[in-house]
Amino acid sequence: MGTIPIVELKRVSQIYGSGKRRFTAIQGVNLLLYEGEFVALVGPSGCGKSTLLRIITGLERPSAGQVLYRGEPVRGVNPRATIVFQTFALFPWLTVQGNVEVALAARRVPEKERVARALDLLDRVGLDGFEGAYPRELSGGMRQKVGFARAMAVEPELLCMDEPFSALDVLSGAALRGDLLELWTSGKIPTKAILMVTHNIEEAVVLADRIVVMDKDPGRIVAELAVGLPHPRRQKDPRFAAVVDQVYAALAGQTQPEHVELGSAPGGPGRPRALPDVTVGAIAGLLEQLAQAPGGRADLYRLSEDLKLGSDQLLRATEAVELLGFATVAQGDITLTPLGETFAEAGILVRKEMFASRIRRLPIFRWLLDLLGVAEDGRLRREVVERALELEFPQDVADRQIETIVNWGRYAEVLAYDDAAEVLYLEPAGTSATAA
Ligand code: ADP
Ligand code: MG
Repeated sequence: MGTIPIVELKRVSQIYGSGKRRFTAIQGVNLLLYEGEFVALVGPSGCGKSTLLRIITGLERPSAGQVLYRGEPVRGVNPRATIVFQTFALFPWLTVQGNVEVALAARRVPEKERVARALDLLDRVGLDGFEGAYPRELSGGMRQKVGFARAMAVEPELLCMDEPFSALDVLSGAALRGDLLELWTSGKIPTKAILMVTHNIEEAVVLADRIVVMDKDPGRIVAELAVGLPHPRRQKDPRFAAVVDQVYAALAGQTQPEHVELGSAPGGPGRPRALPDVTVGAIAGLLEQLAQAPGGRADLYRLSEDLKLGSDQLLRATEAVELLGFATVAQGDITLTPLGETFAEAGILVRKEMFASRIRRLPIFRWLLDLLGVAEDGRLRREVVERALELEFPQDVADRQIETIVNWGRYAEVLAYDDAAEVLYLEPAGTSATAA
C-alpha cells in the first residue's frame, strides 16, 4: 500500500435537482482506496453506488466535498480510470478485434501497434481464436470478456466496475470472476486498484480485500469490513461464511439483540423458538410488496388488504421477515431493512443465497443440520425429526414445524426432502447452484 491513496473522497455529497425536487443522493462520504486494493461496494439500490463511481472517475462533479486522485483534485474525466458497466455496449458492426482496437485508437496508440496489442489483450481474457467474430455470434459471457479486454486496452490504473457480472448466467459469471481474479492477482494488468459495485455479497467476499457497505436515505457509508482471507477463497470455509455473515449483519443494521435475532427464547439460551408457519412464497411476496412502497415502509393493515392475506397469515409472514432480519416492525408499520431490500431486488440465485445464510443462523436449523450431519448418509426419517421436535413443542406444532423447515430449507437448498420416502437429507455438497 502506498502512503498516498489512489482515491480519496472527503465529505463528498451529491444533491440532484433543486427546490421541492431537491434530492440528496449521497451525503458526507469519506473513502480511501489504496494501491493494491480490491474494494467492493454493496448496498440497496438507490443508495448512490453508481453515483459514487461516476464521481470517482470524474464523469460527474459532486455538489460538495473533495475528490482526490493520487493527492490531486480530480478535474474532468480522469483518463487513468475507467468504468466497466453491467452490459458492455459493443459496436455490433465491428469484430471482436475491431472493438478492442477502437479503444486503443481512442488512446492514440499508433495504428501499427494496435493489432498486436488487441490480439494480446484478447489472448489474456481467453478470447484467442475469436478475433474475427462479431458480437452477435458470442455468448453473453464472451461479450463481457470483449468488454473487459476493451477496458484493459485503456490500461486503467483504477478499474471501476458497476455490477459487472450481474447480467451473466451463473457459469459465465463464475468463470469471468475467476479470470478477473487471476488477471488481478498475477499482476498481468497494469491496474493498481479495483472498485467494484455488486449486489452479490458472496461475490464481494470471493473477490474483495475490503467491503464497503452503504445505506440510503441519504446514501452514505455505514460500515467497512476487511476480508483478510487468502486466495483462492472457498465458500465452504467457515471463515468465509463468517465474513458473509458480517456483511449481512451490517446490511441488516444489526439493531436487534443477539437472542432476538437468532430466534432463541430469552431465559432459555439455545432453546429454539418455533418458526412462524409461512411459506417462502408468502415471505417473498411481502418483501416485494414492501419494496414497492415509498421508503420501503407500509401500514400492516393496508398491506393485508393489498396482499389479500388473512391477518394471521400476514402476522406470521411479518414475524418471519423480522426473524430473518429483512424488516422491522414498529407502531403498526413494517419497514424493510437494507437487507430485505437487497433480497426484494435480487434474482433467484442471490435470494437463495441470502435466505440460506439467514436460516443457517436460526437455532432450529442449526440443530437440524447438526443432526443430519451426524446421521447415517446424512438422512433422517421425518418421524425421527418429528419425535425430536416433540421434546420442545406440542405434537401439532412439531408437525407444522417440519412443513415449514422443509419449505424454507428446500428453497435455500440447505436441505432436501424425499416426499415419497418421507426422509430429510442434506443436499450433496457442490450441487447448489452457487457453490464455488
Ligand atoms: P445505486 O447505483 O446505488 O442504485 P444511484 O447512484 O444510481 O444508486 O442513484 C442514487 C439516487 O440518486 C437514486 O435515488 C437515483 O434515483 C438518484 N439519481 C441518480 N442520478 C440522478 C440524476 N442524474 N438526477 C436525479 N436523480 C438521480
Ligand atoms: Mg447502480
